Amino acid sequence: MNKQTISDVDVDWLRGRTVVVRADLNVPLDDGRIADDQRIRASLPTIEALIGAGARVVLLSHLGRPKGVKDPAQSLGPVARRLEELLGHEVRFIPESDGAQAAPAVRELRDGGVALLENTRFLAGDTENDERLAASWAALGDLFVNDAFGTAHRAHASTAGLAEAMRAKGGDAVAGQLMALELRFLEEVLRAPDRPFVGIIGGAKISSKIGVLSALLPRVDRLLVGGAMANTFFRALGLETGTSLVEDDSVQVARGLLENGGECLVLPVDCVVAAEPSEHAEARVVGRDEVSPGDMILDIGPKTRERYGDMIARSRSIVWNGPMGVFEVDQFAEGTLAIAKAVAEACDQGALGVLGGGDSAAAAERAGVAHRLTHVSTGGGASLELLAGAPLPGVDSLSSRRS
Ligand code: ADP
Ligand code: MG
Repeated sequence: MNKQTISDVDVDWLRGRTVVVRADLNVPLDDGRIADDQRIRASLPTIEALIGAGARVVLLSHLGRPKGVKDPAQSLGPVARRLEELLGHEVRFIPESDGAQAAPAVRELRDGGVALLENTRFLAGDTENDERLAASWAALGDLFVNDAFGTAHRAHASTAGLAEAMRAKGGDAVAGQLMALELRFLEEVLRAPDRPFVGIIGGAKISSKIGVLSALLPRVDRLLVGGAMANTFFRALGLETGTSLVEDDSVQVARGLLENGGECLVLPVDCVVAAEPSEHAEARVVGRDEVSPGDMILDIGPKTRERYGDMIARSRSIVWNGPMGVFEVDQFAEGTLAIAKAVAEACDQGALGVLGGGDSAAAAERAGVAHRLTHVSTGGGASLELLAGAPLPGVDSLSSRRS
């Protein structure tokens, strides 16, 4: 990557400097309580490095979708307290989102001190990439660190706008440790992958993944399709898909991909079907040309599991996004769990395996194999955009490496 990261910053220079950090602390909340603190934990390495260097750390993040309105239910207050516990270090919560209003409290920080501002999306200007708002945050510090990989595909005031504003006033904008890690693995697997290179794509959000599919197809040796994504291809082949989830708008694109993909594009040969995606429904295994009008395709079948498993076992590089079936229901989880295990085994044998997508990551956790994968990406949308070759404004806006 030709962008500067926090490792390029002189540690001695950091002492006493104020560093504005855009983190991704967008945790799921359940009745005001943090349901899963994974994103806070993933942000710790950058924050700890800055504290260790004696910098004054000003954290920014969005939480939920408050759409420019101050909503107490989406306050970052509880996140500040959780962060404090995890860091074992005081975190001052500043109940202001705008940099100008937060400035007096920020000036009170001591070396090694940490403050978290209120939800950036309480202000409409964040998602509108408002220049004044971005400049108000840039004015708080000497350096900007963007560690929010999850929002890197958006040009918001607290991401790309702030980076531009910091550089405009002569400061640098660099990638944090998490951002740098995400980019390293995703770019490595795309730039010069060891072969065979296998892509696995599934899940439900077909239209948003067709771009990834098209971009991956010419790069990989095999692209294994599962999940509801496969149904759209079955429809394009003229097969019966019953009551399965199919995105009609994507059928035409699927037809084109089938024509160009040749034997690189691999579809399931059998599936698990039922009347509905429930624990109580009676599940059957059928060939892909044996689906009845009343059937819903809910997982890949055993022959497909075996075929996909063999191809994964022979691969040296793997990118995986999207579950193979409705893995939330036990009787439709086998396909996804089998793929998770196959990818983990390939990684044990030295393959590079990168997984992206919130639900896919949850499935890998459930299979108990997440820790065996080379990298599990924290940014669903951003990792898809990167794999699809789309620009990432949050990254493009950072300072380039000095030669
Ligand atoms: P990710 O979050 O990993 O990017 P998606 O959000 O695209 O994945 O898709 C995950 C969802 O896809 C899961 O909730 C799963 O139940 C659903 N899914 C997978 N296969 C099917 C299918 N055949 N029919 C309907 N839903 C499916
Ligand atoms: Mg999802």
